[in-house]
Amino acid sequence: MIDAEPIADADRACPECGENVLEVGYMPSALEFVTGWKCQECDWRETDRD
Ligand SMILES: [Zn+2]
Repeated sequence: MIDAEPIADADRACPECGENVLEVGYMPSALEFVTGWKCQECDWRETDRD
């Protein structure tokens, strides 16, 4: 997993534990920017890619 930079607090709660979710962004290549979400309290994460 590429390091992701926190962008902001996402306006959603973790589906696993209900804690705050951070919106993050990373660039897997020079031409791509992926938005993702990760929980601050557990290992849950999701991206807008498969
Ligand atoms: Zn969680």
